Formats: sequence, structure tokens, C-alpha cells
Amino acid sequence: MDIVKNYINGDFHNPSNNEWINNYNPSDGKVYGKIPNSNKKDVQKAHKAAKSAFQKWSKTSLEERSRIMIKIAEGIDANLDRLAKAESKDNGKPLWLAKSVDIPRASSNFRFFGNAITQFASESHENVGDNTINYTLRQPIGVVGCISPWNLPLYLFTWKIAPAIAAGNCVVAKPSEITPMTAYCLGEIINDAGLPKGVLNIVHGTGESAGQAIIEHPDIKAISFTGGTATGAHIAKITAPMFKKLSLELGGKNPNIIFDDCDYDDMLTTTVRSSFANQGQICLCGSRIFIEDTIYEQFKTDFVERVKELKVGHPSESDTKVGALVSKPHLEKVMQYIDIAKEENGTILCGGNQVVLKNYENGYYLEPTVIEVPTDECRVNKEEIFGPVVTIMPFTKENEVLTMANKSDYGLSATLWTNNLKRAIKMTSQLQVGIVWVNTWMMRDLRTPFGGIKTSGIGREGGFEALRFFTEPKNVCIKY
Ligand code: NDP
Repeated sequence: MDIVKNYINGDFHNPSNNEWINNYNPSDGKVYGKIPNSNKKDVQKAHKAAKSAFQKWSKTSLEERSRIMIKIAEGIDANLDRLAKAESKDNGKPLWLAKSVDIPRASSNFRFFGNAITQFASESHENVGDNTINYTLRQPIGVVGCISPWNLPLYLFTWKIAPAIAAGNCVVAKPSEITPMTAYCLGEIINDAGLPKGVLNIVHGTGESAGQAIIEHPDIKAISFTGGTATGAHIAKITAPMFKKLSLELGGKNPNIIFDDCDYDDMLTTTVRSSFANQGQICLCGSRIFIEDTIYEQFKTDFVERVKELKVGHPSESDTKVGALVSKPHLEKVMQYIDIAKEENGTILCGGNQVVLKNYENGYYLEPTVIEVPTDECRVNKEEIFGPVVTIMPFTKENEVLTMANKSDYGLSATLWTNNLKRAIKMTSQLQVGIVWVNTWMMRDLRTPFGGIKTSGIGREGGFEALRFFTEPKNVCIKY
């Protein structure tokens, strides 16, 4: 049994109520560990540690903060194999993916914000007419809460805590109860890197108990959250009367718009990836694919052929392209959508079935699924499925596809495939989303603003946007 413990004030603790939750391995459906079912008491303890660390940490020089953060990044790099194995086992994602994307990105998050904080500047405004100069201080907030999901566990966990710490805050963080393992391993790495005790505290448990205690705590003044839209709405409701600062990165139902003048082979390869990477469990996946009618039939044939080649397999096998979904309830939710598609007269072009792997019969595997939909109005085309399921349908006109793309309640990202520059410029400005990729997908530059509009959330993460979120601006006006 792998036992996960809370990391508070630099030490590992059992939950105060001594209650534990089973941790499942999605690749075989077996319980392989226990995690704390933490409650309000544990969050209070974590807050107390963070609060007492704040005075010193917020006054620590930028060079020293930066040095420690880069040491944490080096610690993650040195533990690449161990962390990748833990991530793959906990989440069900292919090991090669955890090793090439998730864990390297977790180290990049620390390295990036460790460097960014030394370049973070505030503004000054001089008015020579009335002899005044204004300057803006950017001060850390105090104790902040970071709550992250299960799809990219260490990647998204560190994406929040790195800028929070870099900006001089102390953190109470909660990873998803479904994927706690790598956040637990991070505790040791943090201690080895010499981050002062109490600067980062990690409380494990359910959203309902530990998560709720974080969002309700009156002295945790900002919440950075990534997860489902319903949870985001709940957090906004609870925290609004306390006027907490909020950054919410929520769901998406992202359009992937393909014109016949694109670089076809590039588009096809990337579209397979943007549909099924990480079992389709990425908020940025392009799950609504719209194809210009002139190449629709060709695309349909080629795409389905390529998707059928994707090997569904055990996460540890190097040729596995689609691993296990994260949990049994999630697998069931995704499969329900395949039934809904059938009821709505969608045509399952490939996939649609659970996969039973020899020796891993109880794992949560699903064939990558392509559904041809008769209209963009159906539920599978509107609701976030968050699994290896995409819809395809043709369009004839630019305006028509723009309308369909924008009809969504979500507004996270969009992908556009075209070599027509005028069209690209026009459409990118009209798409109602926070991020647009043209002729590529998920190319991430950590300096850029990241986040969505509509029900995909509020606020932006990344680069100086994240450092602005984790600081309070204070303007000072001096008359001379
Ligand atoms: P949730 O939104 O429930 O979970 C995200 C995080 O929030 C987890 O750490 C969760 O804890 C925590 N949480 C849940 N309830 C509360 C609460 N009341 N107060 C504070 N924190 C809370 O997502 P799910 O994991 O249930 O996934 C549901 C759907 O959300 C998915 O099917 C998908 O559509 C979407 N999703 C979107 C993601 C994105 O990147 N935008 C990522 C993951 C999911 P715990 O898990 O421990 O209960």
C-alpha cells in the first residue's frame, strides 16, 4: 500500500481524524494506496503554518526565492523517472507521456516562475504638470489556496503553486483526491531544495471536505482553481461574500475548424493528437471538429483510419497511445455520452466500446471514438465529455462555422487550420475564446496569458498575468 500523507510545515502528517480514502490504479481498477480524508482541522493547521511562514518569506530577496525555486526544478528533473511512474500509475496516462510532458513541464513551471519573478516590474507614472509621481507596489497577498484537478496532476498543481510562491505568498494547496501521488512526492523534493517550512502546505482529501475548508477559510484570500465548471461556480458563490480574489480555469468544448486550404498532413496528424492526447482528458482538446465540405469525405476516411491505428493499452507499454481513463465513474460518464450520441442519431464512425485488456480486465479503457453528428445542436456537441470522444461535421461557409463555433457556452480555446492569412486574422479576432491556435495545437509559451471566457472561467494564468493575480497592486502618489 502506498500511503500518502499531508505535508504541513515541512513535515508529513496523518489526517487529524485518522480517516483515509482508497486510491485506485486506473490501469487495473485495484486499490493500491490510501490518502488522508482531511477536514477543516487539517486545513486550519496548514493555514497556521502558512501564516507564520509568510512574514519571513514575503521579505525574502527575489534572488533567494528564485534560487530555491530553480533548485526545486532541478529536484523534479532528478526524480523524473520516479515521478513519471507515479503519475502514470495514479492517472492511467501512458508512461512515455508523463515522462515527456507532465513531469518536465512541472519542472519548467518552477524554473520559469523562479526566473520570471526577477523580471517582474511595476509601473510608475510621473505628471510633471502637477509635480507628482505615482508608483505601484506589487505586494504578495498572504496565504493563498491552490486547488488542482486530476487530468494533468503535477503539471497543473505546480502551474499554480510556482507563481504563488515566487510572488512571496504562502500556500495551502489541494490536489485532486483521485491523483494525489506526485503532489505527495513533491514534499520531499521541496524539503531538499530548502524551501522554508510552511511556505507550501499540501492537504489531501475530497473537494467536499478539504477543498471546501480551503475556499471557506476567511484568511485564505485568493483561490486559484482548475477543474469543472460546476465546481468553479460553487467556489465563486462561496467566496463572493468574502471578496476573495479568484482565478478559475474551467471546462471547454473547443472547436477545431479545418479549411480545405490547410496543410493537410500536418492538420491530420495534429488533429489526432488534439482529439485523443491524454485520453482526451485535457481542457484544451479540440472535441468539436468542423471540416469544410470540399474535403469532408476525404478527412472522414483518413481520420477514422488513423484513429483506428491508435493502440489502447496498459500505460507502461511504450507503444500505448491511449491509456486508461482516470476513474470508473469518469469512464461511465464518458460511455453515457456514447449512448446519448446514438439516441441523438449520431453515427459512431469508430470506437464506442470499452476495452478489456488481458491481465488488466478491471482497468478503465475505452476505444477512441469518432461520432458524426447530424447537427451541432446535439448534446455530445455541446456538453464537455472530457474523454476520448470527438464529433465531426461538415460546413460550407466561413460565417456558418464561426456561428457554430461561437454557439457554445464555453470559450476556452479554438484551433483553426487554414493558409488564408486574411481569413485567419478575421476569424481569430471573432472567435469567442481565450486562446486560438492557427495551424498548430497546444504549443505553449509560458509567458502568454492562459484561460477562457464564458463558462470556461475568469482570469488568466501564465507569465506576468499569474504574478499579477498573486499580488495586490498598491498605488503610491508622491508630490514633490
Ligand atoms: P472537479 O471540479 O470536481 O475537481 C477539481 C478540483 O476541485 C479537485 O481537486 C476537487 O477535489 C476540487 N473540488 C471539488 N469540489 C470542491 C469544493 N466544493 N470546494 C473546493 N474544491 C473542490 O472536477 P472533477 O474531477 O469531478 O471532474 C469533473 C469534470 O470537470 C470533468 O468531467 C471535466 O468535465 C471537468 N474538468 C476540467 C478540467 C480542466 O482542466 N478544466 C480538469 C478536470 C476536470 P476532489 O477531486 O478531491 O474531489
